[in-house]
Amino acid sequence: MMRVGFAGLGRMGVHMARNLIADGHEVTVWNRSAEKARAFASDTGCGVTGSLRDLATDRDAVLTMLADDSASEEVHFGSDGLFAGQGTAAFIEMGTMSPDHIRQLSEAAPAGACVIDAPVSGSTPAAKARDLLIIAGCDTATAAPYMPLFDAMGRQTICLGEVGAGAVMKLAVNTLIHGINQTLAEAMTLAGAAGIDPTRAFDVIEASAACAPMLKFRRPLYLGQSDEVTFTVSLARKDMELAAALSATYGVAMPQGDVTLQMLKAAEAGGLGAQDMAAVLRYMRDLKS
Ligand code: NAP
Repeated sequence: MMRVGFAGLGRMGVHMARNLIADGHEVTVWNRSAEKARAFASDTGCGVTGSLRDLATDRDAVLTMLADDSASEEVHFGSDGLFAGQGTAAFIEMGTMSPDHIRQLSEAAPAGACVIDAPVSGSTPAAKARDLLIIAGCDTATAAPYMPLFDAMGRQTICLGEVGAGAVMKLAVNTLIHGINQTLAEAMTLAGAAGIDPTRAFDVIEASAACAPMLKFRRPLYLGQSDEVTFTVSLARKDMELAAALSATYGVAMPQGDVTLQMLKAAEAGGLGAQDMAAVLRYMRDLKS
């Protein structure tokens, strides 16, 4: 059993924190909208605090599952932020962040504490079912004490050695994920325009060599049979902006990634930012060549 602070009870964080509690870890939660944290604590019986400094005092690890770099900055820095706490061994950032931000965290962490970037692949159903892939920016020896936490939340943890490498690889994977989302939207729009029923079109795509696991579990979202929001258009745009910045840093051409980013920006400007990224299909159906 480990003493864990958990900040960020969003769509993913609630499931991850719940799974830590189910494994018997002593979890205390914090969330910017404090009411969410209070409701979660009264539902699960875990601890709750309104103070980030308290959340990061005398814990084996503090896990953060926040929206983006700026949310993570707000939570870690400042006189009342996580880094003002004392006696916490590890700060584990599990949201999708830029590698630069992770390095910044690593440099600013309290003496003796380590920072691990451990972003996850898999959406809300995977988070609920402890089926996440955890991509850790550390070596296996550094990860070892925290494996009971990673195993509570995921099916596999891959350690990439260096701080920030998890963040890089997560952006690489999401370039693929958001590219598939965009291409699926185009393929479905083309089939539909030629008169093929969307359900039948999806049946064929799902049975084809092109079917990725994400398409299978996202089927009801693409077919308009579910209004659930698993991953917003705005967060997808954030991912592709980070990937574009990283590609510029390394001088790598990513023409397809650029198109994916432009389409996500356009969908967001069209009012779809808070919707599931499956809404890109609706956006493409309305877009004329
Ligand atoms: P979400 O539902 O939007 O939750 C975001 C969390 O960040 C909430 O707890 C929110 O607090 C908090 N937050 C936002 N801005 C903040 C700020 N300025 N200060 C403090 N807290 C702030 O997002 P999510 O879908 O759980 O995703 C979380 C992270 O995981 C993101 O980086 C995302 O890219 C990544 N991710 C998501 C998925 C997915 O399928 N959803 C899969 C893999 C990775 P409030 O409750 O107060 O708004």
